[in-house]
Amino acid sequence: MDAFIGASWDETLVNNLTTIVYIVASIVFILGLKRLASPATARTGNRMAAVAMLMAVLVTLISRDILRIEWIIVGVITGSIIGVALARKIQMTAMPQLVAVFNGFGGAASALIAAAELVRLNNAGADISVDTSITVMASTVIGAVTLTGSFIAFGKLQGLVATRPVMLPVRNYINAVLVLVAIGLAAWLVIEPDNTAAFAALILIALTLGVLLVIPIGGADMPVVVALLNSYSGLAAAATGFVLQNNMLIIAGSLVGASGIILTRIMTRAMNRSLVNVMLGGFGVEGGAPAAGPAGAEQRPVRSVTAEDVALVLSYARSVIFVPGYGLAVAQAQHAAREVADLLKSRGVSVKYAIHPVAGRMPGHMNVLLAEANVPYDELKDLDEINSEFDRTDVAVVIGANDVVNPIARTDPNSPIYGMPILNVDKAVAVIVLKRSMASGFAGVDNELFYLEKTMMFFGDARQSIENLLRELKEL
Ligand code: NDP
Repeated sequence: MDAFIGASWDETLVNNLTTIVYIVASIVFILGLKRLASPATARTGNRMAAVAMLMAVLVTLISRDILRIEWIIVGVITGSIIGVALARKIQMTAMPQLVAVFNGFGGAASALIAAAELVRLNNAGADISVDTSITVMASTVIGAVTLTGSFIAFGKLQGLVATRPVMLPVRNYINAVLVLVAIGLAAWLVIEPDNTAAFAALILIALTLGVLLVIPIGGADMPVVVALLNSYSGLAAAATGFVLQNNMLIIAGSLVGASGIILTRIMTRAMNRSLVNVMLGGFGVEGGAPAAGPAGAEQRPVRSVTAEDVALVLSYARSVIFVPGYGLAVAQAQHAAREVADLLKSRGVSVKYAIHPVAGRMPGHMNVLLAEANVPYDELKDLDEINSEFDRTDVAVVIGANDVVNPIARTDPNSPIYGMPILNVDKAVAVIVLKRSMASGFAGVDNELFYLEKTMMFFGDARQSIENLLRELKEL
């Protein structure tokens, strides 16, 4: 009797302590997420969320007596070594791939846990309630779609799968039929949860759907898809939380689900496209395309300049705005750009950086690159903050950006990027554009900015060009 009372008291204590750790971890998660909103606090925010996750994982494993402490330590060390090695090795331009893989594994974990719980309940002969069956089905289906969808996204970003949109004929009908069959099977399984064949078929259909939904989307749209799949992985985790009745998993999953969908929304809005438009696929060209224009149209003249010319223009400027884009990331020109900025500042020039929300190939791409090059945060200005300043600026220096500075987005309703908010660099007194050729950017649209009288084209690899410019500037 004493032993029984002792055991239940211990159990209550463990449960209460677990709940307290879960509440603390949830609060730290939310505070960490909040800190991700600014480059100045993002690093600590990331660390806070990682510590909260570690707390949650450890307390779950220990309190539920799932694993012996030695195994937990081995798992934590192995996982940390793999995580640190991957994160250190990966290039900034390859970050969307890494996130895609993480999402895929997250979805797989949720699906496996939910499926294992269903098998366990069936083997125990338990009477499975309708809400448990529904959450098991939700978690398995969303998790499986996330797994294959994320790996196709990874393959496209890595160039292992065709990056162009693969538009199967009647694909929308195939998808609709598969969704209907999946709903039918899930409903059947709610009534008859121990039907293994139906469950296996449901998983197979979900895995196929993941492939079919992502394959028609072009490689360059993958970051939006990755953000959406990130949201799915959160939803799958939250559903698994309901299956296991684990509040921590429900909270963490919901946070991921909500932030993923908000991020998706921010990205599509900054491109002035709807999510449906992205998901239907077929948009964009990977790696740029020759400037559009009627076939055989005569080449319009542009003003091509040298590093020496650019140095001279900058030496007369009192205010300069740098506008980084995808090309800066590809060329890894951020350090050289910061050196030019430092030199100009030391000569009394006002320097700022204009950051478009979808410059580059993932949200926050430019902020991260410039932060890595030690550009002060207060010099990074958002689109809304900086746009009114261009007409008071002597020189706008566009480094490997194209679509995000294309004035056609303001003027031509027939353009695919019409309505996309852009940085108004064409309003600056003079514009210098660094890129290698006249090729278009991601959207495949010719850029009117390049043909303006005030625009100087400084052709070459961005890093090489900026290093040459730096040399010329130092000589002045
Ligand atoms: P763009 O893709 O429009 O243009 C990049 C330019 O960089 C190209 O025109 C290319 O010209 C140039 N470039 C490439 N390599 C180099 C190099 N080594 N040195 C110098 N220049 C180089 O980039 P933006 O940043 O302006 O726009 C981003 C685009 O991506 C938008 O259309 C956006 O909608 C889309 N997008 C963004 C997402 C995000 O989250 N950020 C997500 C999905 C899509 P050239 O070949 O002549 O050198």
